[in-house]
Amino acid sequence: DGLISGMDLSKIYATATGPLVALDGVSFSIEEGEFISLVGPSGCGKSTLLSILGGLEERSEGDLILAGQRLDRPRADIGMMFQTSVLFPWRTVRQNVELPGVILNLDKKQQAERCDELLDLVGLNGFGERYPKELSGGMRQRVALARLLAHDPRVLLMDEPFGALDEFTRETMNLELLKVWEKTGKTVIFVTHNIGEAVFLSDRIFVMTPRPGRLEGVVEVDLPRP
Ligand code: ADP
Ligand code: ADP
Repeated sequence: DGLISGMDLSKIYATATGPLVALDGVSFSIEEGEFISLVGPSGCGKSTLLSILGGLEERSEGDLILAGQRLDRPRADIGMMFQTSVLFPWRTVRQNVELPGVILNLDKKQQAERCDELLDLVGLNGFGERYPKELSGGMRQRVALARLLAHDPRVLLMDEPFGALDEFTRETMNLELLKVWEKTGKTVIFVTHNIGEAVFLSDRIFVMTPRPGRLEGVVEVDLPRP
């Protein structure tokens, strides 16, 4: 039940000083359309959990189910975004946003139209022909957000996506993200170490303990959003 569920997920990294338990039996269930934040101190395993969900890391133990199917490899219906986004510098904003469509061989005309909608959605109307180096950090993350949405993934995994931005820009981007979330109905899992941000953004907050990473509790947030 739920769109995504994890059962007893564990991750043990092999390191020079021996095995390191990064996740120790994490279980959860997330409904379609929920905005979940994952919080906890540095090193508690937030990125590890997100990477396992995104298929970038293999889990050591446990099961992961997405829409009734066992999740074993990266899938196009799960999109990821990071603190620093790699945009291709020799491609325009538009070409960057259309890239997932090119890779997945989607209809060119449809992708072009979709790109216009997405640039509009993330507030980059009129910036399609610019190059990444001509944009501010916040605008580059807007491009990354549009690119993330380009092939319409069901789940957005975001690892401190605005963590490198100044506070004002970060708050603007948080509002932008909420707008996108409301319009698209996506399921979002958002990693942050900022509790205020988690409360502001989320339906529920997953709180993790450090070493070894466990899910310590789930906080239901019942605050009106803007
Ligand atoms: P967080 O995102 O909460 O800061 P991480 O998931 O990055 O935590 O890390 C959890 C633990 O796993 C930390 O102790 C970290 O040092 C360790 N770790 C993360 N990635 C690796 C890796 N590739 N190899 C070995 N240890 C790792
Ligand atoms: P702090 O003491 O950490 O500044 P705040 O509750 O003021 O705590 O804000 C924490 C974070 O929550 C902010 O950095 C921001 O990302 C987010 N946030 C809070 N209020 C807003 C808002 N009105 N619009 C957008 N983001 C907000």
